[in-house]
Amino acid sequence: MSLLEQLAAAVGERNVLTGDLVAGYDRDWTGAWHGDPRAVVRPATTDEVAAVVAACAQAGVPLVPQGGNTGLVGAASPSDGEVVLSTTRLRAVGVPDPGTGTVEAEAGATLEAVQTAARSAGLELGVDLASRGTATIGGVLATNAGGARVLRHGTTRTQVLGLEAVLADGTVVTRMNGLPKDNTGYDLVQLLVGSEGTLGVLTRALLRLSPRPAARAAALLALEDAASAVAVAGALRSVPGLDALEFYTAAGLDLVLAAGRARTPFADAAPVHVLAEAVGPDADVLAEALAEALEELPGLQDAALATSETDRARLWALRESHTEVLAPLEPVKLDVAVPLVALASFLERLPEVVAAVAPGVTPVPFGHLAEGNVHVNLPGARPFDVDGAVTDAVLGLVASYSGSISAEHGIGRAKRRWLHLGRSAADVAAMRAVKQALDPAGLLSPGRVLPDPLA
Ligand SMILES: Cc1cc2nc3c(=O)[nH]c(=O)nc-3n(C[C@H](O)[C@H](O)[C@H](O)COP(=O)(O)OP(=O)(O)OC[C@H]3O[C@@H](n4cnc5c(N)ncnc54)[C@H](O)[C@@H]3O)c2cc1C
Repeated sequence: MSLLEQLAAAVGERNVLTGDLVAGYDRDWTGAWHGDPRAVVRPATTDEVAAVVAACAQAGVPLVPQGGNTGLVGAASPSDGEVVLSTTRLRAVGVPDPGTGTVEAEAGATLEAVQTAARSAGLELGVDLASRGTATIGGVLATNAGGARVLRHGTTRTQVLGLEAVLADGTVVTRMNGLPKDNTGYDLVQLLVGSEGTLGVLTRALLRLSPRPAARAAALLALEDAASAVAVAGALRSVPGLDALEFYTAAGLDLVLAAGRARTPFADAAPVHVLAEAVGPDADVLAEALAEALEELPGLQDAALATSETDRARLWALRESHTEVLAPLEPVKLDVAVPLVALASFLERLPEVVAAVAPGVTPVPFGHLAEGNVHVNLPGARPFDVDGAVTDAVLGLVASYSGSISAEHGIGRAKRRWLHLGRSAADVAAMRAVKQALDPAGLLSPGRVLPDPLA
């Protein structure tokens, strides 16, 4: 039997897509990465995933898992000849258990579907991204996604209590008992989280839920500079229940307003805006706590408080629209983090570092202030970055602050050349050893995360 016949036997002929039917699965969200896949396969159960992976292993054909395809480092879109394993049909979400504070979800369930299920049980998932409607649990886990709630909940890996996955040879590993204490050897669950499809195909997860706060209050602050934003972050940390601290600059705000995606509550544009949100039993008390913490802050030009769902959503739209309004401008996209104390200096030096290699390009930085996580978007920089000169310059600047060259999006195909800026040679050798042990033939997502051996 040919590979395509074996795949059809495993998942049914209509779930093996070829030719024109692969459209959409063959390129990434940014449009920068695309390939010609051998087929797109859509299994509906763990056994079907195992059969697909085993068939590809036997045929020696590389395979890439794909969830919502919203990843931003080119990891989920295929290289020529790869089989795309799409989790579109693995969508079930279990009934949340308030007793244990957990919910089970299949890998292809969207983040939003799990959030909705949690809410219906008076609970919440501590992970939230603007791509929630499309990003899947499998993708969120495989990238160890960050997002806007890391401040209170940590990154995705802290929300994972169990996982089921199919390894490169088709073996199924299952750790779904959800025991809070279980020190029985190597932690395979956490090894698979953040592995970007290179160590296994995730099929099911047991996720931690927490009680849903009764109220939320948000504050949008107009500030005179980035140093003031860093000072705000320090001042607001004492607010009980602080849940999110985001920022954007005038450059991003202009794009959001021009696209008509949101309205600003301020008459005058400020150089930097910070969006803070706190959770607790009473929205008015929260708003008061936020307002109090802001009194006498240097650099504060204006502030708007929101306690109702509608007003909060208006403020969040200003921040959350950034990625989408930038997409048509096809920017070079970098996702970095620097220590918070260095953030103002980094943002100040960024334009000159970019201008030196990409004349006329203005950076649009925004992101998750609490973690010093800056999404550096560079519209118009692609022609200057054909050989990586722009990326090199910005990531070099990040490394000079002992920062991270990929705070939350991962390495994928886009950043692997620069892995050495964040990981030592010993680290990379250890990662290679893990990859070699779990996927000796190198068939799971080849060319992602690890640099080429001789590079
Ligand atoms: C508007 C927008 C906002 C975003 N905001 C954020 C943000 O705030 N924080 C953040 O971290 N990211 C953000 N992202 C990036 C992206 O949404 C996340 O990386 C998300 O986790 C990807 O999920 P996905 O299902 O789309 O994965 P995909 O893009 O399909 O895949 C991403 C990676 O996971 C692997 N993968 C997918 N499913 C599986 C599986 N079942 N088993 C094994 N590997 C798998 C893929 O092979 C690939 O390596 C944003 C993206 C957009 C478009």
